[in-house]
Amino acid sequence: MTTNWQALAADYQADLLHDLATLIAIPSVRDDDHATPQAPLGEGPAAALKAMLALAERDGFVTKNVENVAGRIEAGNGTDVLGILGHMDVVPAGPGWDTDPFQLTQTDQRLYGRGTADDKGPTLAAYYALKLLQDQGITLNKRVHFIIGTDEESGWYGLTRYQQTETLPKFGFSPDAEFPIINGEKGISTIALTFNATASTPAKRQLLAFTSGLRVNMVPQTATATITGALPTDWQQTVAAYADANHVTISDSDSVDGRIFTLVGKGAHALEPDAGRNAATHLATLLAPWVDDPAGHQYLSLIATYLHEDSRGHHLGIAYTDPVMGELTTSADLFSYQPDGEQSVALNVRYPQGTDLATIQAQMQATLGTTATVSIQDAGHTPHYVSAKDPLVQTLLQVFQDHTGQVGHEHVIGGGTYGRILKRGVAFGAMMPGRENVMHQANEYMPLADLIQAVAIYADAIYRLTR
Ligand code: ZN
Ligand code: ZN
Repeated sequence: MTTNWQALAADYQADLLHDLATLIAIPSVRDDDHATPQAPLGEGPAAALKAMLALAERDGFVTKNVENVAGRIEAGNGTDVLGILGHMDVVPAGPGWDTDPFQLTQTDQRLYGRGTADDKGPTLAAYYALKLLQDQGITLNKRVHFIIGTDEESGWYGLTRYQQTETLPKFGFSPDAEFPIINGEKGISTIALTFNATASTPAKRQLLAFTSGLRVNMVPQTATATITGALPTDWQQTVAAYADANHVTISDSDSVDGRIFTLVGKGAHALEPDAGRNAATHLATLLAPWVDDPAGHQYLSLIATYLHEDSRGHHLGIAYTDPVMGELTTSADLFSYQPDGEQSVALNVRYPQGTDLATIQAQMQATLGTTATVSIQDAGHTPHYVSAKDPLVQTLLQVFQDHTGQVGHEHVIGGGTYGRILKRGVAFGAMMPGRENVMHQANEYMPLADLIQAVAIYADAIYRLTR
């Protein structure tokens, strides 16, 4: 039997858009401030989950709601279970939208709205694939557990609860990234450096405060520092030359405590620190030679020596490359300094298979000696890799190739998707190769044709994986 998946998928376009509009209209941002026992992650995520499960019940599928934080849609028969993992939460809309982010808007064959690409659109495409197979009367020789999370963007509480109360499938895919496939994800951890401050002693120029960073997975865009005492006579020329040479902006102002320096670099996702310009390590590098109080000088010079422009961890002594999974990356993302208080830096370290957190911690400690204590603030996720030879990866790449005419290949990323939750789990679609990545941005959209093609690809994939 040759099935024309693309033609079958096209028949569902109107229904799919109608259901997508329903889901996009729910602002399902995790909201812990308004959590209730009935909505542990806030009203939006719970409402979006219920709406998704209601669609499946309407279409005759058995569903299960796990405490309004996760859910499941079931299909097929057999002993083996294929997992499909999507999510109903979205990141906040943020500024800059040309349309209402919570109203599905179609313009020029593009579907605009928060969640159209990440992940309501792809989740619905995979759901319609399952519905298509059911409507065609195609028997699935394995069970399918379509699992829905409600806080993929923050914390993964929903799927953590799911793992505690339900049994996870051993293999499957998450339609929450890009084609052709993501079959490896680096380990993700947060490592804290706590400085062993030397007693504060009077000095000509003292560091009074240093702060930078908003989130532990973001290269900081802005950093500020306060310095007391008379600055070197040529400080203004030095600052101007530094700003010019490093493509950063630096401003300064007087306060009762001293001079406040603010440096603006470029923010970026911590999975590729080289995409940004770290405001904090730049500011520390600029100011370290001026500050002469022992504690302040130690803080700034250690940042300048070991954390500045060292995204692969060579200066820290933690550099490591795996031939398949690539390089370890490190991003210094949160900074806090007070003379008689906290003196710390938090690093987001992403590492491939072949090294581990205990090794990384020991290597860093050996490098830093007695100046700072290295501790694991959040062990996060260990590296995850499903071999390119695994039948799951081979099947999905073959499906991709058959539908697009493009050659599939394995791909490892520094980010984290639900794919890593399953022992043999990968991410598969729905962003097509070469498309502009608009996830988490203003004016997020999904090309309509890509969404319908994704339905066809997912239907064929579920079909082949349940033979
Ligand atoms: Zn997502
Ligand atoms: Zn996302």
